[in-house]
Amino acid sequence: MGRKHQGSVGFIGLGTMGREMARNLLEAGFAVRVFDVVPAAIDALVALGAQAASGPADAARDADIAITMLPDTPQVEEVVLGAGGLRADPPRGRLVVDMSTIAPVAVRRMAADLKASGIDMIDAPVSGGPMGAKNAALSIMAGGEAEAFARALPYFEAMGTTINHVGGPGAGQAVKLCNQLICGINIQAICEALALGRACGVDLDQLRQVLLGGSAASWMLDRLGPAMIAGDDAAGFRIDLMLKDLRLVQEQALALAVPLPATALVTSQYVEARAHGEGANGNQALFRVYDRMANQPRQTVDG
Ligand code: NAD
Repeated sequence: MGRKHQGSVGFIGLGTMGREMARNLLEAGFAVRVFDVVPAAIDALVALGAQAASGPADAARDADIAITMLPDTPQVEEVVLGAGGLRADPPRGRLVVDMSTIAPVAVRRMAADLKASGIDMIDAPVSGGPMGAKNAALSIMAGGEAEAFARALPYFEAMGTTINHVGGPGAGQAVKLCNQLICGINIQAICEALALGRACGVDLDQLRQVLLGGSAASWMLDRLGPAMIAGDDAAGFRIDLMLKDLRLVQEQALALAVPLPATALVTSQYVEARAHGEGANGNQALFRVYDRMANQPRQTVDG
């Protein structure tokens, strides 16, 4: 298979999303050097043709672009600003792209900090879940300078299909927080519909099919509905990560005095889910909150 691209990437963070994104970069022909704190995650990518790195700077040093896909703001700050990080030892191309979902204010701080060292930063969070990552079909919402976005675009095109430059530093994260607010409230609406349908004795698979054909259709109902109905809590997007996103939404909203009552309500349900040990389960496990409120026996995939 001939290389379609000449560029090189240092990719840091090979979890649910990052491993698929790094694989798609490899498949597009880029040279990819990878790092994760979990050695097995590195090995899995090396088996697909990536090079192993001993740390973030080692992954990025000889690359045109460094991409991070990490859980939350502190991990990105550590990898970018910490000892052995990308600010102290930047990629050859002096371009850092964070694709995690983190606080917009932290992005603006980091972008200014990096700029002072002659390094460009783009925030480019994604939507589309693990399947979107696997199929290189992510929606990518990017913030930062236009020239830096243009340099990152060929790499984005290897990972996504809907790619938008939405403003300056932090703008990508602002759009992603709006996305997450809708996702969280939408999952809650689906839980409520399934809880009511179940109590009415309606067949839930049929209910979902009917709803998908009308104005209640949504990505969440389509993708998470089957797992909710089957009681399959296996993670895709973890409850813990959504709780992190809803916290970021509310921190941003409070800073700007924007009232978001529905977000506050659904956040308390996510808190309840985590308190019942569901943090590592997928978002579909929010339905368990409704099981508990209705005192319904827990349904599981095993019956
Ligand atoms: P994940 O927890 O599966 O993966 C994160 C990876 O980062 C892990 O492999 C972890 O070992 C690694 N890591 C943590 N700290 C590190 C460090 N200091 N240095 C190197 N590696 C480190 O998370 P994910 O589901 O892949 O999500 C990543 C980001 O993307 C999060 O911000 C999440 O909110 C966002 N996101 C996730 C989804 C989804 O459906 N899972 C969808 C869109 C966006």
